[in-house]
Amino acid sequence: MKIIMLGAPGAGKGTQAKMIADRYGIPHVSTGDIFRANIKNGTKLGMEAKQYMDKGLLVPDELTVKILLDRVAEEDCRNGYVLDGFPRTIPQAEVLDEALAGLGEKIDYAIDVEVPDENIVKRMGGRRACLSCGATYHIEHVPPKKEGVCDVCGQELVLRDDDKPETVRNRLKVYHEQTQPLIEFYQAKGVLKSVDGTMDMKDVFAAIEKILEA
Ligand code: ADP
Ligand code: AMP
Repeated sequence: MKIIMLGAPGAGKGTQAKMIADRYGIPHVSTGDIFRANIKNGTKLGMEAKQYMDKGLLVPDELTVKILLDRVAEEDCRNGYVLDGFPRTIPQAEVLDEALAGLGEKIDYAIDVEVPDENIVKRMGGRRACLSCGATYHIEHVPPKKEGVCDVCGQELVLRDDDKPETVRNRLKVYHEQTQPLIEFYQAKGVLKSVDGTMDMKDVFAAIEKILEA
C-alpha cells in the first residue's frame, strides 16, 4: 500500500502518518525528518536544506527528489510506505509517478488532511518536536509525560525554528502556491481522499482507516 499525506504544514500529516505506519506495518517516510536528521548531523545536505527551511521556503526539487527516491528504494519499503511531506510540488509528484511507473507501480491513496489556515498558526506554536527520534507532541493536545522531554527517547523537546509564527505564515503561503495544486493532480488520477483534520486525532485516524479498509 503506497500512501501520500497531503495537507498544509501542521495539518497533522505526521501524526496520522505515524498511526498509519503502526497500524499497517509500513514505513513512515518524512522528507522533513530526513532533512532535520541531516541538519543535526551537520551534513552538506543538511546545511543546504537549512537555508531554505529556516525561511519557510521549500528545499529545491533537485535536492529533495533524490533523497526521497533513494529512501523508497530501500528494502523496508518493498511492501509500501506512507509519505509525509512529499511530494510538495507538481514536478516532485511527476518524478515520483514516473519512477513508480518504471517499476509497474502507482500511488494507491493521496489523503488530504483538511485544516483551515486560522487553526494552523495556533497549532504550530504548540508543537514540540524531538530532533533525535522525530516524535511530535503538542503542549495542549499531546503533552509528553515529562515537560520538555521526549517520551520515546528521553531527549530534549524543542519548538522548531520554522514553527515560529512569522515562518508559519510564510510556509502557508508557499503551501497554497506550490503544494495545494497537488490536490487536483491526485484527484485527476482518481486516488484523492479527503478527511476533516480539525477533529480529534483519533477521529481523524478512524476516518482514514475507513478509507483504507473500504
Ligand atoms: P504536519 O506533519 O502536517 O506538519 P503534525 O502531525 O506535526 O503536522 O501536527 C502539527 C501539530 O498539531 C502537532 O503539535 C500535533 O501534535 C498537533 N495535532 C496533530 N493532529 C491534531 C488534531 N487532530 N487535533 C489537534 N492537534 C493536532
Ligand atoms: P515538514 O517536516 O514536512 O513540515 O518539512 C519541514 C521543511 O522541510 C519544509 O518547510 C521545507 O522547507 C522542507 N521540506 C520537507 N519536505 C520537502 C519537500 N518535499 N520539498 C521541498 N521542501 C521540503
